[in-house]
Amino acid sequence: MTIQEKLLSHACFPARFRKDSALPDKLAAIAACLIEGNARFNLTAITEPDAIVEKHLIDSLIAADKIAGMVGGAPLRLLDVGSGAGFPSLPIAAALPDLSVTALDSTAKKCTYMNETAAKANIPHFTAVSGRAEELAAPGAPMRASFDLVTARAVANLPVLCELCLPFLKTGGTFIALKGSNAPAEIDAAKGAIKKLGAALIGCEEYHIPSDDAPRYLVTIAKTGDTPRAYPRHYAQISKKPL
Ligand code: SAH
Repeated sequence: MTIQEKLLSHACFPARFRKDSALPDKLAAIAACLIEGNARFNLTAITEPDAIVEKHLIDSLIAADKIAGMVGGAPLRLLDVGSGAGFPSLPIAAALPDLSVTALDSTAKKCTYMNETAAKANIPHFTAVSGRAEELAAPGAPMRASFDLVTARAVANLPVLCELCLPFLKTGGTFIALKGSNAPAEIDAAKGAIKKLGAALIGCEEYHIPSDDAPRYLVTIAKTGDTPRAYPRHYAQISKKPL
C-alpha cells in the first residue's frame, strides 16, 4: 500500500480533509523526506512507514482538524514550538493552506531539513526558524505577542511549555498542546503558570490512535491578556523553578 492509501484508509483521517485531493501527495512527500532524512541524520525515533503515517501524520492532522474547527479558513499566523522534524507543523501547513505557519527549533539542521521538506512537498506558506523559544519570545523581540495560534508536541511538561509558548500569542490567541496520558496531571501542575502568563485553560480533549493504548489529549489554552515582562525567564530558571 502506498502512503497515500494508508492515509486515506486510516480510521482517524479527518473527514474534512478528504475533499483536498492534493493533500495525500503532500503528506506522502513529508513521509518520504523523513525516511530519507533519517538515513542521513537522526531526526526521529519513529521510522517505519505505518508508524510515520499514524504517529506523525495522522496525529498532526487530528490537531489540524481541531484548528480548522476553531478558525475555519481564516488567514492566521501559527507558530509550532520545538518542531523537530516538523510535527505537527508540516502536516498542519499541508492541510490548512490559509495559515501562515512558522516552525521553531533550537537545532539549526532540523530547520534546514524542515525548509527543504516544505519545498519538496509544495507547502510554500511554511517557514522554519532556528532559535530558542525563551529568547525569541522575550520582551521587545519581534515574535513576542505576534501569533494567533501556537502548537507544541513532545517538547516539555505543561508548566515549562506554557512559559515557552504563551508569550508568543496575541491576546485572543490560542495555544494547542498535543499531550500524552499525563495531561490531566500536567494541567493541574500548570494552573498557576497559565494564570501568571495571562492565559486561561479552555479545554482538554481526549483522543486515541489505534496503535497506542494510552489516551492522547489536545489541551487548549486561551491568551486572555498580556504576558508580564518578567516572562519567559532564562531556560535554567524555567525548568528548575516552573511557575
Ligand atoms: N515536536 C516534534 C519534536 C519533539 S522533540 C515532535 O513531536 O516530533 C523536541 C524538540 O524541541 C527538539 O527538536 C528540540 O531541539 C526542540 N526544543 C527543545 N527546547 C527548545 C527551546 N527552548 N526552543 C526551541 N526549540 C526547543
